[in-house]
Amino acid sequence: MSSKNLTRKRSPHDFVFKQELGHGSYSTVYKVFDKHSVNHVYAIKVCSKAHIIKENKVKYVTIEKNTLNLLARACHPGIVRLYYTFHDEENLYFVLDYASGGELLQLLHKMGRFSESWSLHFSCQLIDTIEFIHSKGIIHRDLKPENVLLNRFGRLMITDFGTAATPLNQQKQEDDQNESPRCSSFVGTAEYVSPELLLSNQCDFASDIWALGCIIFQFIMGVPPFRGKNELQTFEKIASLDYLWNNQHYSSNKIDPVIIKLVQKILVLNPQERLTLTNMKKDEWFDKVDWNNKDHIWRGIWQ
Ligand code: ATP
Repeated sequence: MSSKNLTRKRSPHDFVFKQELGHGSYSTVYKVFDKHSVNHVYAIKVCSKAHIIKENKVKYVTIEKNTLNLLARACHPGIVRLYYTFHDEENLYFVLDYASGGELLQLLHKMGRFSESWSLHFSCQLIDTIEFIHSKGIIHRDLKPENVLLNRFGRLMITDFGTAATPLNQQKQEDDQNESPRCSSFVGTAEYVSPELLLSNQCDFASDIWALGCIIFQFIMGVPPFRGKNELQTFEKIASLDYLWNNQHYSSNKIDPVIIKLVQKILVLNPQERLTLTNMKKDEWFDKVDWNNKDHIWRGIWQ
């Protein structure tokens, strides 16, 4: 590709659109090849402008773009990277890392639950990534296995930053009394919502840690800790910390009490008393983990 091509603004014509990978509430995602570099495969998220305006999603798209742009500069392996954005008359386009392994939730459904060693490995990748996101002043606010993708090596990549709180938009959200951005993401799933958000409409870095606790539980048990017959019941279970480790699943193999204790220290109603990421990394479950050895943490399960 000539240097002129490299610097000009990209357009949909620079890509060969292959199969649809999925769609969300305001977007459809496609696998694409870069016409100028055949080996380059990306995922393009196409958001219809008319749909975004009609469904009042402008705020979410803007947050997603700004947050991904902010995170892309550091190139962390656990974040779906945003390479380019452009638009035409009809659509906005986000050119992203292609996560060929699909959603973590699909893998979990396929396997039923993860072994303790896989759970440990995935938990380390999540902790490393959430720590990085928080270090940039960003709260994800919608962490759940659907929002974690896998690349071709089986490494985790966090996606869906449409409801994130960033240093840029946080104050505005706090000022906005009538609007809780996270509340809108109750549509879909309520199972990872933190008690502080539910009870006092407050959201902090600790809310992501609550969600992480739910995800670790789900790795081991196959289902999230708080799941009622409807959202109200789920909320009641969260507010009363009503969850059960059902050891029946494990028949002869009992769940390691170290994991049970760790989750207990994460799923704490008071966010101030909840385990921090720094203390989590010192927990007995992670005794053998060298947090400074990024190659080891970021080894893929299919490598
Ligand atoms: P919503 O926006 O309603 O919360 P969503 O986040 O799932 O839903 P999208 O981001 O449009 O919506 O993603 C739609 C689907 O496309 C996802 O469920 C996922 O399976 C797939 N997908 C998204 N991004 C990628 C990617 N970078 N690589 C591979 N597949 C992806």
